Amino acid sequence: MTLPTIALFRNDFYLSTTEAIVTAVIADGGIVLDQTCFYATSGGQPGDSGFLERADGSRIEIASTRHGDTKDVILHVPADAQPVPDIGEKLVLHVDWTRRYRLMRMHTACHLLSVVCPYPITGAAVGEEESRVDFDMGETIDKDSVTADMMSLVNANHPVYLQWITDAELMANPGIVKSKNVRPPVGLGRVSLVCIGENAAIDSQPCGGTHVSETQEVGEIFIARIEKKGKENRRFRIRFGKPETAVL
Ligand SMILES: [Zn+2]
Repeated sequence: MTLPTIALFRNDFYLSTTEAIVTAVIADGGIVLDQTCFYATSGGQPGDSGFLERADGSRIEIASTRHGDTKDVILHVPADAQPVPDIGEKLVLHVDWTRRYRLMRMHTACHLLSVVCPYPITGAAVGEEESRVDFDMGETIDKDSVTADMMSLVNANHPVYLQWITDAELMANPGIVKSKNVRPPVGLGRVSLVCIGENAAIDSQPCGGTHVSETQEVGEIFIARIEKKGKENRRFRIRFGKPETAVL
């Protein structure tokens, strides 16, 4: 039996380092800690990489972070040939912040896209360079106008914040869930709603990922491509930077 981990990243998206105690080391290599700021793969956002610093200053490099058999257990998966820590050992955790911050910006961009394109979401994957969001929609939409609408939300610098509701409140209001096939992050007794704009005027959506706190932090983004995936499905690809200028 594995002890649960306090997931500090749920309440503080900007926490990149913390101290923690090793509570278990799983046979296939996952290190379990009493608490962590490492985000565990969930809801289309990949888990954090980084390193765990030992008392002598040496490092245990972490390749990825994922949930164990249950959502309250978080496994820090070491890279190949890393030293194994002792149970009870105190470590200082360091998230690869450059990577995580890009993921936070991208993840927030996915929410902005879902505001601009208010269709049911059938899938999403957040990446460091590119993210994709799939919508249940049949019509064709101009990618440059989607980019312009997203950038006006970025430039308006709307606040992004969390509101907590219980699983029961979410079940009683199924209309607030935009995803069609993706299960909302229930199972922990309460669910975080990601709200954009004062009084959630722009959007509110159940999501357990990490997001920036103001839309301006997303920075320059654009829709690189919209692909047709069947008659009733469109796949949008978001990238950082300015739209590539068409070469004539
Ligand atoms: Zn989210």
